[in-house]
Amino acid sequence: MKLLLVEDEESLRRPVKYFLERNNFTVDEAGDGQEALDMVDTNEYDCILLDLNLPEVDGIEVAKKIREGKNLVPIIMVTARSQVYDKLKGFTQGADDYVTKPFDLKELVARINAVIKRSSTNKEENLTFGDNTVFPERNLVIDNKKGKEISLSNKEMGVLQYLLRSKGEIISSEVLLEHVWDREIDMFSETVKTHIKTLRKKVDPTKKYIKTVRGKGYCINC
Ligand code: CA
Repeated sequence: MKLLLVEDEESLRRPVKYFLERNNFTVDEAGDGQEALDMVDTNEYDCILLDLNLPEVDGIEVAKKIREGKNLVPIIMVTARSQVYDKLKGFTQGADDYVTKPFDLKELVARINAVIKRSSTNKEENLTFGDNTVFPERNLVIDNKKGKEISLSNKEMGVLQYLLRSKGEIISSEVLLEHVWDREIDMFSETVKTHIKTLRKKVDPTKKYIKTVRGKGYCINC
């Protein structure tokens, strides 16, 4: 699951990013509203944590612009306790939930999972390949034929999920790096190759479903 954390105060942003990463999220950071909007344009996020008080373009404006772009990514607005936050205004401008600073980090993770779950139920996705059913939130694949549960790492699940959602299309390593890893990843690394290898070993040892298309990328069910 990939998140965008929008917060102008680095001293607040860093520990939240660290905690979220330890809870298996991939986290990109933006320090102001405009940077957030640029990143939403070029990346696909599962959820955005949006500070209300940002310099230049504030949180309400950012949420509004994201929705104007027909982007339905779940947004959690983060507000200061001292602030009289106009909840109604936040919700009508596109926020799905809000938390008040200082917030409990565990509570924040629960809220994030809840909004992501709501939005994915809306999409009514049923991710399967062969006899396998995929449960992204639990990082789990169930082999229905053998009745076996297979645990994946966060990134392995990210790759699998992205390929499945692409419905047989060939996806390049660059695109996978962009969608599954955060911005700090080296675009020339062998990371994707390594993860495809471990993913296959776990869920597709006979290479029946996950195909490598030389010079182009990877696909599943293709
Ligand atoms: Ca702020």
